[in-house]
Amino acid sequence: MPRGVAPRQPARTGRQDKVRVGTGAIARPGRGKASAPAPKGRQKPIGKKAMAKPTTAAIASAWDLLVATILSAQSTDVNVNRVTPELFRKYPTVEAFAALTPEQLEPDIRSTGFFRNKSKSVVGAAKKIVAEFGGQVPEDIEKLLTLPGVARKTANVVLGTWFKKAEGVVVDTHVHRISRRLELTKENEPQKIEQDLMKIIPRDRWILFSHQVIWHGRKLCIARKPKCAECSLENICHAADKTWSTVELHKVAKG
Ligand code: SF4
Repeated sequence: MPRGVAPRQPARTGRQDKVRVGTGAIARPGRGKASAPAPKGRQKPIGKKAMAKPTTAAIASAWDLLVATILSAQSTDVNVNRVTPELFRKYPTVEAFAALTPEQLEPDIRSTGFFRNKSKSVVGAAKKIVAEFGGQVPEDIEKLLTLPGVARKTANVVLGTWFKKAEGVVVDTHVHRISRRLELTKENEPQKIEQDLMKIIPRDRWILFSHQVIWHGRKLCIARKPKCAECSLENICHAADKTWSTVELHKVAKG
């Protein structure tokens, strides 16, 4: 047994079946009513859990999801979900956002952090969507990427989760960390990680893969102290920063 590798111990629960690599999704439909059906013509986003624990994420359109994703940068899901229900009640349409100045929006999203930049992005994106895309969030990645504050991660979230279009793989902080720990990539830049993942994951799994990995990252493979003893991937994971291992560790496999 290599140095530094702890002997196998039973998981704290004594069983592995509590491991849940599920469909941690980004959005939920039905503003105000968790069980409300998605509007006609719209596809229901994958999974039931919204960006996080609170169940009132209030995402009812591609625009709502775009806003929530912009607000989620450098913030927690809890913070975003605290803000969005009231935000979307106050400004129910993309046109309502487009009529604002960034300064007017700032107080509403202050608690998500980096609120000045986020206000500029949200208002700028709204104005552009109204002026150039007829008030509809475009379903085309090239067009999405022209919106202020929208890079590949945000574009992939909206395309994959709302429109069910697999144009790429969402690389957020969880996908970044876990892909490196599992040696699916050696890269550090999100765009390069995405390219590596797109090569090894079948396209019809791109959307689900991100949801599963994000869920795994929230529940078990957390940044500072991953719960390796409870992880069903433990015997194929050689991450150097594991907290417990039955296999050899690889120095380069770090989150
Ligand atoms: S074994 Fe540990 S580091 Fe590896 S994927 Fe599981 S939780 Fe993450």
